Amino acid sequence: MTRGKLEFMPGAIPGLMMDRPLLVAPLLTYAAHFHSDTEIITRSVEGPIHRATYASMLRRTQQLANALIALGIKPGDRVATLAWNTARHMELYFAVAGIGAICHTINPRLSTEQMRYILEHAEDRVLFFDLTFADAVAETCKGSKSLLARVVLTDASHRPNHPELSDVLTYEEMIAGHSENYDWPEFDENTAASLCYTSGTTGHPKGVLYSHRSLVLHSFACCMTATMALDVHDRVLPIVPMFHVNAWGLPYACPMSGATLIMPGRHLDGPNLFELMDSENVTCSQGVPTVWMALLATMRERGRKPKALKRILIGGAAASEMLIEAYESEFGIQVNHAWGMTEMSPLGVVNTLKPKFLDRPRAAVMPQKLKQGRVVYGVDMRIVDAEGALLPHNGQTPGHLQVRGPWIAKSYFKSDSDTLTADGWFDTGDIATIDADGYMHITDRAKDVIKSGGEWISSVDLENAALGHPLIAHAAVIGIPHAKWLERPYLICVAKGAEKPSLEAMNTYLETKVPKWWLPDGIAFVDAIPLGPTGKIQKTKLREQFKHVTAEK
Ligand code: AMP
Repeated sequence: MTRGKLEFMPGAIPGLMMDRPLLVAPLLTYAAHFHSDTEIITRSVEGPIHRATYASMLRRTQQLANALIALGIKPGDRVATLAWNTARHMELYFAVAGIGAICHTINPRLSTEQMRYILEHAEDRVLFFDLTFADAVAETCKGSKSLLARVVLTDASHRPNHPELSDVLTYEEMIAGHSENYDWPEFDENTAASLCYTSGTTGHPKGVLYSHRSLVLHSFACCMTATMALDVHDRVLPIVPMFHVNAWGLPYACPMSGATLIMPGRHLDGPNLFELMDSENVTCSQGVPTVWMALLATMRERGRKPKALKRILIGGAAASEMLIEAYESEFGIQVNHAWGMTEMSPLGVVNTLKPKFLDRPRAAVMPQKLKQGRVVYGVDMRIVDAEGALLPHNGQTPGHLQVRGPWIAKSYFKSDSDTLTADGWFDTGDIATIDADGYMHITDRAKDVIKSGGEWISSVDLENAALGHPLIAHAAVIGIPHAKWLERPYLICVAKGAEKPSLEAMNTYLETKVPKWWLPDGIAFVDAIPLGPTGKIQKTKLREQFKHVTAEK
């Protein structure tokens, strides 16, 4: 058990290497010095494409650091952002953390109520926001006691004309006139650098507080070939937003690797992403399945892929066989499935195939590709039963997935309760199997798993299987009560067109994909499946909507 600071063993002698802190600002200063002309290209919220380099970004970030200090921001203060993926947002990441303060990214898809709770809980001192969120800011900040200032991420010519926002500063005016030189201080690498609240389905959001050390170590992990394989040849478009787990760490890992960054701003629909990827020769991109579905529709319409796109990372929710097959076989774009969570910075596993799978026929490899992936070095992973006993890594036995590691949260911001198990592991709330090759497969969230006659049915696997049906656009599976089996699966679908398959037709299709006893007991069609602020199916809403349905057999 390793929970506190460790001591030297009796007789051991300290190594003689420099004890340099792992801090965030040097990621940018490194890129500015050694990849000075590498670009950060933004589709700006105002409209035009904006081009910066790591060198020019460093100068502006230093100006911003001076401006924040002039505003009264001190080490430990929280500085909030409500913003899309842009160069300005990235400047905030580095300037805020670099002066010892904490960059608190707020998810604009949360309800006003949740946003207000988060602002108050974090006691944010300044709020930086994009023009898009002017109304939300006017609404959310009413009566805030902690906020010193609100700053809109634009220049004077785009200042919002909103009665509630007459006091806001504009970002460009705020930094103008400040020196472009700033000596980044050195401090303890365990200092907090950024804060992101999880959007759990129950209770208040909880703050995950990343440290400089955890962010830098996580960046090393992102650059590894076994994960995102980032390097100087890459032109990376992070679609995953900077307000959700630091855009999976890409704003830190790209400067570390010298990769070019393309920031998509606010237009995340298929046609806009396609055009940006095409015109900026994007080579790799990262996002959740819904985004990849949208881009797929555009690629099919245009009969081609964005010309330089080679690989994509799918995470945040399970990638279906249909999605992987379409990208890889139809368009020749490599797909890597990945899993993680806000509490894990987020990288946990990435699916890259071991050599032994490479020469197998595609159909035989697909079950392996559908797994979330192999554990990343730095993350310890285990599965346990309800009593906490270790379960075997046989690819069959599902258990509660637990993790530990230097970029995994040990507790939540301002929370007294201990979040770890007695022996120091973080319970992810996911149910998974791990196979003998080390591939982890998420079968469910613990609260979503369908317990049928003492056996578990994976709602995620059933959803993915249903998504392969040619008439189905979107699918979700929930458990409904059953007199004998206690729970049975119920399938809720969005049809692609007017034609809707019957339960019998659907089950005839599904029985070639999943065990027979998993086949749903009922099917319903809806116009849309409710999605939460990070693109996940909101099963609590569906359970509420279908609470009167019971299985009959
Ligand atoms: P968040 O903290 O909002 O990023 O959500 C983390 C949760 O998303 C995980 O605990 C999983 O339940 C789910 N998740 C993330 N990636 C995947 C994936 N590739 N497949 C299935 N579920 C995923």
